[in-house]
Order: sequence, then C-alpha cells, then structure tokens
Amino acid sequence: MSRYGIIFNVDRCIGCEACFVACKEENKVAPGIQWNKIRRIENVGKRVINYYRVSCQHCEDPACMKVCPAKAISKGPHGEVLVDHKKCIGCRMCLAACPYGAPLF
Ligand code: SF4
Ligand code: SF4
Ligand code: SF4
Repeated sequence: MSRYGIIFNVDRCIGCEACFVACKEENKVAPGIQWNKIRRIENVGKRVINYYRVSCQHCEDPACMKVCPAKAISKGPHGEVLVDHKKCIGCRMCLAACPYGAPLF
C-alpha cells in the first residue's frame, strides 16, 4: 500500500505563512481555523528565530485514534488519518493525546 507524505525542511522555513494561506484556500478552511500552523521559536541567547510548520502528521500508529471513545478517527487507504465529524462528541481526548497538538475544534 502506498503512503503519501509531505517532506518539510525546517532549516529552510522563513515563516512566510504562504503554505498556511494555500492550505486555507485549497481546503476552504473556515475563518479562525488553521489546519496548517506556523510556529515561531526565539532563541534570545543565540539571537536566532526559527519557524516550523505544524499540522496533522498522519501518524502510522495514531495516538489520537487509540483514545477516541467515539471511534470517530480512522486510517484511510493511503495512511491518512480521518475524523468522522458526525461521530465526534467533542471530548478533546485526541488533542490531549496528540504529541503535535494537531486536532482542531
Ligand atoms: S512558512 Fe510555509 S511556505 Fe513559508 S517558508 Fe515555511 S514552509 Fe515554506
Ligand atoms: S492528530 Fe496527532 S496523533 Fe493523530 S495522526 Fe495527527 S499528528 Fe498523529
Ligand atoms: S474530540 Fe472527537 S475525535 Fe477527538 S477523541 Fe473526542 S470524539 Fe474522538
């Protein structure tokens, strides 16, 4: 089975947020919601600012899926992690379990 992915080079990210805008446009994401987030880390001592993008990593063994009491999270045929909004009860256990803080509400 093929497994899709996005390769992101954190050393080259300048935090321009073009990927965030493209994601909103492509997926018609509602106002106030960011599926693709850009994080900024300041290292004051070294006078360095780093940026990196964060979104769902579509983990091979998703922590979010294991804890979902409503069985609303599943794996698709190409490794994608899917959420059935009709089954979700909004308990936010997936957010607590996700190491990337990816789930949005
Ligand atoms: S914010 Fe997104 S589009 Fe801009 S440099 Fe970083 S990864 Fe590329
Ligand atoms: S929500 Fe978090 S734990 Fe679940 S697949 Fe995405 S990155 Fe992995
Ligand atoms: S918020 Fe929804 S998707 Fe997340 S664990 Fe609860 S029921 Fe499952």
